[in-house]
Amino acid sequence: MKIIDGKLIAVEIQNKLKLRIDELKKKNITPGLGIILVGNDPASEIYVRNKMRVCSELGVNAVLCRFNEENTEEEIIKQIEEFNQNEEIDGILVQSPLPSKFAEEKIISHVSPLKDVDGFGIYNLGALLSNQEKIIAATPLGILKMLEHENIRIEGSHVVVVGAGLIVGRPMAVLLLNRGATVTLAHSKTQNLKEITRQADILIVAIGDARFITDEYVKDGAVVIDVGTNRVDGKLYGDVDFLSVAPKTSYITPVPGGVGPMTIIMLIQNVVDACERKRDENGSKN
Ligand code: NAP
Repeated sequence: MKIIDGKLIAVEIQNKLKLRIDELKKKNITPGLGIILVGNDPASEIYVRNKMRVCSELGVNAVLCRFNEENTEEEIIKQIEEFNQNEEIDGILVQSPLPSKFAEEKIISHVSPLKDVDGFGIYNLGALLSNQEKIIAATPLGILKMLEHENIRIEGSHVVVVGAGLIVGRPMAVLLLNRGATVTLAHSKTQNLKEITRQADILIVAIGDARFITDEYVKDGAVVIDVGTNRVDGKLYGDVDFLSVAPKTSYITPVPGGVGPMTIIMLIQNVVDACERKRDENGSKN
């Protein structure tokens, strides 16, 4: 069994990104990320702070716009439109979840597809589904990078993704389908889940239920990717019961230190990609 060290892989990617950002800076270009944070959800505050910290370490200009529950949808959309027009902003992220009074999908639909570095907009999701991938959501992209880093075979493998959420499960399933995996996408209404997960060569779990997946759900020698982040009594747990599952696996990601660190760095990579694409397009126009 090998533990896949997400922190280490993220640092490798971070070092490569730093070189690309330094190259851009030599041409007086600084990648920019516009962040919209609405309300004061403590977890969102931490996620945004971490994203801004990594941006600052790498030399990406992060601009945070805060809104509260008293603001209107129109005010948030106006800020998104401003970011869309702003030449210094290459990527826009609307930190999810928004307070329930706001229509999240409607708000996100205003983000330009070229700057939708979260990959949650309908254009980028449609591009993924039609196997014409453009911007891919950071968490599934990070998981793909981890599998590739460890040379884990995707083509022809049976991947079971448990959890069909829009941020992780659905895009993950399609991303691996696009690479020739046989994919089963399970969710809360799936019958006989254990029988299905026990067939997985690669089992990816994103449900948000601490230590739900125990050794009975896992085939000997499987690769297990644990996306869950669940806080119980102040401690962080994945969706996988690491202690019982790890000995059965060939590879497994820990929580913390697995998928989490990859997510932030892939977001920044999406910003740098968007910045370079814009530069290339501007260059070809001149
Ligand atoms: P979500 O949108 O709420 O989706 C959860 C999915 O899990 C749904 O499809 C749900 O089924 C399914 N589900 C729930 N309980 C289940 C069960 N017992 N058996 C089978 N399926 C079940 O959640 P999400 O945004 O994808 O997040 C999932 C987890 O990943 C959370 O812990 C979140 O914090 C974590 N996460 C981590 C990162 C990271 O960077 N590490 C990034 C994003 C999310 P239905 O569709 O039938 O409701």
